[in-house]
Amino acid sequence: DHYGLEEVKERILEYLAVRQLVKKMEGTILCFLGPPGVGKSTLARSIARAVNRKFVRFSLGGVRDEAEIRGHRRTYIGALPGQIIQMMKKAGTVNPVVLLDEIDKMSADFRGDPSSALMEVLDPELNSEFSDHYLDVPYDLSQVMFITTANVIHTVPRPLQDRMEIIRIPGYIMREKMEITRRHLIPRQLKAHGLEKKGIEISDEVMQFIIEKYTWEAGLRNLERMVAKICRKLARYVVEGREELLKLDDLAVAEELLGVPKFRKPQLEKANEIGLSKGLAWTELGGDILNVEATLMRGKGRLSLTGKLGEVMQESGQAAMSYIRSRGASIGIERKVFSHIDCHVHVPEGAIPKDGPSAGITIATALVSALTRIAVRGDVALTGEVTLRGKVLPVGGIKEKILAAHRAEIKTVILPRENEKDLKDVPEEVRSDLEFIYVDTMDEVLEHALVEPLSPLPEFEELLDEIAGEEGEGRVAGNGLAH
Ligand code: ADP
Repeated sequence: DHYGLEEVKERILEYLAVRQLVKKMEGTILCFLGPPGVGKSTLARSIARAVNRKFVRFSLGGVRDEAEIRGHRRTYIGALPGQIIQMMKKAGTVNPVVLLDEIDKMSADFRGDPSSALMEVLDPELNSEFSDHYLDVPYDLSQVMFITTANVIHTVPRPLQDRMEIIRIPGYIMREKMEITRRHLIPRQLKAHGLEKKGIEISDEVMQFIIEKYTWEAGLRNLERMVAKICRKLARYVVEGREELLKLDDLAVAEELLGVPKFRKPQLEKANEIGLSKGLAWTELGGDILNVEATLMRGKGRLSLTGKLGEVMQESGQAAMSYIRSRGASIGIERKVFSHIDCHVHVPEGAIPKDGPSAGITIATALVSALTRIAVRGDVALTGEVTLRGKVLPVGGIKEKILAAHRAEIKTVILPRENEKDLKDVPEEVRSDLEFIYVDTMDEVLEHALVEPLSPLPEFEELLDEIAGEEGEGRVAGNGLAH
């Protein structure tokens, strides 16, 4: 049912093999983690079909009440069993495959925490005696095969994470998308539109055009929608008795059918600019490039961070600033500067909320560039966490980030050295187009990301002596920062 995903399939086969050998399996619970539309729920459905078991699905999105999982006591008016028991009823067997969708979208409030109830469901030690308030007798869930899906993992409570085996599905590259469209999406949509006997032929060029200009995603949701749209056109032709086969090999014709393109490749500023660096972010929708801007104004040494940033990113901004202030003269910035200026860091791309510390070195680079007036290389993208002492720490989501950099035609990617191992997950054809620079410290980042080397300034005391020597002319603070 699914194209590609070799590693994921391997892992699923191993899982099924063990399940077959051990009759009563001490549960590993699979969790498919990845952006929307990469095939997480359909994979679960395929597994159910492969092992010949009933399949039921329960979306945990928006569940915030323990009673939804565990049911109400029968003393309440309108009491019902919880969803788990209702699902078992729906399945009608004791060993269905149960898909718990969107486990990351569950939330807790004063009515109780559904995740603790879920823990009981998923824990192999406990789930042979699952207690539903409505049933009020223990129910044995130990034969159920649970599969969960999530877009992000950090919102899933830690104890729940520990009970699941996480399998990442990072998203597809152009070649894979084209292949999947040909092999799966077009036949499926033709069938859905009652066009089994008819056909659609799309040339490579047009397919690429559709994927680039009408969809911007790691998964395949919108692409499938586009294929459906083409099928509807064909359906109309067929009913009007005009054509039986839709051939799309001309961009102009495709555009006429599908309407004005929705996306253009984000035109990244490729020029080297002062105070502008490009970060690689990991979002729920896959990888993305974000521009980080830093600018200076007269003030009192404050740092403000704006844009759609999460708390963690605010903090990594502060950490970056502290690092820069502590390095001061040795990276070419006079300490005095900090008591006379305010820094403002902004992340303009506002559509996707971003969180995580991986923008640390990007923010630091933008700030150093603004403070030293040395431009950042326009074709370089960065990702990595920075510590107060300028160490660069590894970050997650490397594959998604590299795919995003590749999509955006970046040439060089600066990564934490410890992330070097994650590169083996990146397809060779993407890897060979990019140059990777692995770094341990912020100094190395700056060495590669800035167009010119930094020149250390003399220490402040020395500088004071110098100033005293020159007798009070207006001095220039920082490189070119006139006061
Ligand atoms: P998710 O649960 O990850 O949001 P879905 O499982 O709903 O995604 O998949 C979205 C659509 O994309 C489905 O129609 C699915 O069949 C298709 N799809 C995703 N990945 C693949 C693949 N590797 N091969 C074939 N079809 C795929």
